[in-house]
Amino acid sequence: MRIIEMYHNRPFVFSIEVFPPKTEDGMVNLQKKLRAFAVFKPDYISVTYGAGGGTRQNTQQLAGFIGNELGIEVLAHLTCVSHTRKDVILLKEQFLSEGVENIMALRGDPPTTEKKFEPMPGGYRYASELIEDLSRDRRFGIGAAGYPETHIDAISSQMDRYFLKQKIERGAEFVISQFFLENQKFLNWRDQLYREGVRIPMIPGLICAQSSSQIQRFAKMCGCMVPSELIKNLERFEGNAEDSLKVGLDHAEKQLNGLIREGITGVHLYALNRSEVVNALGPTMVGLKSRTDLRSSLENDGRLGF
Ligand code: FAD
Repeated sequence: MRIIEMYHNRPFVFSIEVFPPKTEDGMVNLQKKLRAFAVFKPDYISVTYGAGGGTRQNTQQLAGFIGNELGIEVLAHLTCVSHTRKDVILLKEQFLSEGVENIMALRGDPPTTEKKFEPMPGGYRYASELIEDLSRDRRFGIGAAGYPETHIDAISSQMDRYFLKQKIERGAEFVISQFFLENQKFLNWRDQLYREGVRIPMIPGLICAQSSSQIQRFAKMCGCMVPSELIKNLERFEGNAEDSLKVGLDHAEKQLNGLIREGITGVHLYALNRSEVVNALGPTMVGLKSRTDLRSSLENDGRLGF
């Protein structure tokens, strides 16, 4: 099923993002966790695509497992890193053979050995080029990434939105946001894009901080702000993984409740393969999925936007 149909027809769409483990044992372990995640009836699960090496094969294997064994729709990520256009022709067939119908089309980050993203000769420089190719093919639903706090390489927030709109014009059907820790960042960005004519689903990406050092490292990589209050609360428990996670979960729950009040109709949970995160937020998501009033109240006051 195309993911865009879910956003059009379901009251609330709950999606989970996982990354493919590097080892066979890691894969077995994650598959066990995914079976448990199924209890919360995620509408789809997305699987990230690594910067290179073995985990790329694992994206396909994991995507196949989620779709074929768990019967959950899957969104397979695909990046431009180290791929030529010819590679993508082959990769598309491989994804289709695993039953993958939806692709999150990304430029990708450079491998750690390289400072800057450089396209392959005969490859793609920007995600919009990959999106254009996938869209022409017509066999995939297409998602794209968006940045409420502006992508780190962008010339300006205005130009970043301009290029996001280009991805939409070229065929992206829905946008999943980078994580943010202050709702207002997402809401301002979403509303600005709405004013600029964007009418496709803009889905907030929600993360749960696990420690002060972890979240500050992630935030630095993506150019996101971490509220000082959150850092302070996490620092009280530095070195105590369990209590740090509780602080992170509490923050994520507050963010989720605030977003619901602002009329979101879906959440993408950056689960980082952590059962604790899915177990803590999953029940709220299940409740939201059955709340038909969410959609009708938004339709009534014209805020649905698509
Ligand atoms: P693009 O849309 O190509 O944008 C990259 C930069 O170029 C931006 O600064 C943009 O403003 C600028 N730009 C775009 N078009 C033009 C143009 N025509 N001219 C000049 N400048 C332009 N990374 C992975 O490696 N694997 C994953 O699985 C993965 N999953 C992700 C999932 C989500 C939901 C998100 C938000 C990010 C994910 N990433 C992943 C990270 C992502 O690959 C990086 O943020 C990457 O640096 C940018 O990817 P993009 O698709 O947004 O690139």
